[in-house]
Amino acid sequence: MSTKKEAKESKQPVEEKTDEKPVEKETAKFKFECTKCGTCCQNRSSIPITFTDLARWTKQGSFIQIILPHLELESLSEADEISKIAIIPFIKMKDIDENGKGICPFYDVDNKICNIYFTMPIFCKTFPLSYNGEKFYVSDSTCEGLGKGSMTKEALLELRKTAISDYNQRAETSLSMVPLQGMFIRHFMKQSQETVNRLSDEDQKKLDALINKSKEEPAEPTESAEPEETTES
Ligand code: SF4
Ligand code: SF4
Repeated sequence: MSTKKEAKESKQPVEEKTDEKPVEKETAKFKFECTKCGTCCQNRSSIPITFTDLARWTKQGSFIQIILPHLELESLSEADEISKIAIIPFIKMKDIDENGKGICPFYDVDNKICNIYFTMPIFCKTFPLSYNGEKFYVSDSTCEGLGKGSMTKEALLELRKTAISDYNQRAETSLSMVPLQGMFIRHFMKQSQETVNRLSDEDQKKLDALINKSKEEPAEPTESAEPEETTES
């Protein structure tokens, strides 16, 4: 979620039917037990992640190195449930189909297990229950675990707490990413300038020569610019 497609999905929540009632009564109606069908891990456009997920993976030593190659950023300029302008870090899916949906790189299709189960993103922990800042809702009504099992009052309370944390963490992350992006750009530009300033006169001349050479070099001729060969008989 949280790329454009996921944000759109979340904008049309299926409300948890029992939201207005006391938890004791809700537990009788909102039931969920994962059947491990794997649909939510194989049919997604992306999985949003948060600073808390990143910090946890970094604390887990080299684990971040396994996750990092699968992370990307997306800018959202459309309104979503959290903000109007945001940059969302997310896990990029693989084998994406014509509908923009694919398989999570951490999903073991053969054994139907999550390879990072012990440290999965908070978004996956709370799935399919979500929170939009005002109320709880089912983010994916096709989840076949809905209505199954016998969820206890405590389990529902715990799931709701996780859904609220997911909402707060995603809001904090996406909103912070916008100013952070500007800070990073300025930081890297400053670093580049400092590196150039540290060059010796000789290296500075070599660099200038390289830059000038690349400016002077003519563009490669395109195929269509090649004269056509003609044969006269
Ligand atoms: S779609 Fe629902 S039942 Fe299937 S694996 Fe995901 S959470 Fe479990
Ligand atoms: S991180 Fe794990 S639980 Fe989340 S989508 Fe990927 S495989 Fe599924």
